[in-house]
Amino acid sequence: MTIRTTSGRGRRYDSILDTVGDTPAIRINRIAPEHVTVYVKFEAFNPAGSVKDRLALNIIEAAERDGTLAPGQTVVEATSGNTGIGLAMVCAAKGYPLVVTMADSFSVERRRLMRFLGARVVLTPRALKGFGMYTKAKELAEQNGWFLASQFETAANADIHEATTAREILSDFDGTSLDYWVTGYGTGGTVSGVSRVLRKERPETRIILTEPANAAIVGSGIVNSRNEQNQPTESHPAFEPHPIQGWTPDFIPYVLQEAIDNSYYDQLLPVAGPDGIAWSRRLAAEEGIFTGISGGSTFAVAMTLAQDAPEGSVMLVMLPDTGERYLSTPLFEGIAEDMTDEERAISQSTPTAQMEAG
Ligand code: PMP
Repeated sequence: MTIRTTSGRGRRYDSILDTVGDTPAIRINRIAPEHVTVYVKFEAFNPAGSVKDRLALNIIEAAERDGTLAPGQTVVEATSGNTGIGLAMVCAAKGYPLVVTMADSFSVERRRLMRFLGARVVLTPRALKGFGMYTKAKELAEQNGWFLASQFETAANADIHEATTAREILSDFDGTSLDYWVTGYGTGGTVSGVSRVLRKERPETRIILTEPANAAIVGSGIVNSRNEQNQPTESHPAFEPHPIQGWTPDFIPYVLQEAIDNSYYDQLLPVAGPDGIAWSRRLAAEEGIFTGISGGSTFAVAMTLAQDAPEGSVMLVMLPDTGERYLSTPLFEGIAEDMTDEERAISQSTPTAQMEAG
């Protein structure tokens, strides 16, 4: 085997924002069944570490294009983290102040990351769920004349996945089969935007949507009421708190409704949070692919599908973010801080062990 070489990207970048998107589809080599070929589209390669960098950039640039965002105007949004981190990066790069509202149940590192990127983070009580942080953002926008990013309603969300994520998939799977594309949803931007294109350009690809087993709000069939701005007016009755951060808020977002109304998915499969955590750990420890709980959960669904998938099937699984965002969450529960017995034995196996003991 010869040494690997690299050749650069053959260009220089004018801004961090020009590095959003074009994430790699990477083959799984060790943990998938042999009769299928599984690829993951690893969104942690985005500059702020998640799929939401795409939407954050387009929300701001769409508002700049149509004039709804004035130079220097404050941006406000309710977000469980990744959208806030993406918006913080974009606002930092473009010079807009940002205020994020977030339930205090989300991981501490998310808040600190946003503050590190220059945003202000307003916490809302977890008892008020997603609806609480959402209402707070709306109130702040109305009261102060701030620009509300509206990730759950804006056309800028699915549009950017149609224009980028979907195009990347078409290009990367050009001339080769793609039997399944698997994704979860938070706002639904990924599934609605990518499906618009796949349904047209790759009609043979089965689109698999997943949601938390204990918050299967789409599977419940119960519709959500919305106001004239397409915002939810109630918390969905089938919602329960779940460990898959970034997925399934306590209402059916308007952006996701497009996927439901157009039957953009062929199957809706629930996944239990602990299964997602287990597969995220396996992706890290056995493939070197470090993704969060939603990535592990999407992958868990792919592994269930793989069991009955025909020989030679090709799957693409969305991995929305990096696992580094979850150090203080159940994903890292049981990951030791101090040396384990095994590590102590390794340590004690060399001569300096005596000095250390003394
Ligand atoms: N996983 C994580 C960790 C997320 O933050 C999000 C977005 N909230 C998603 C998945 C789902 O993406 P989308 O909003 O495009 O449905």
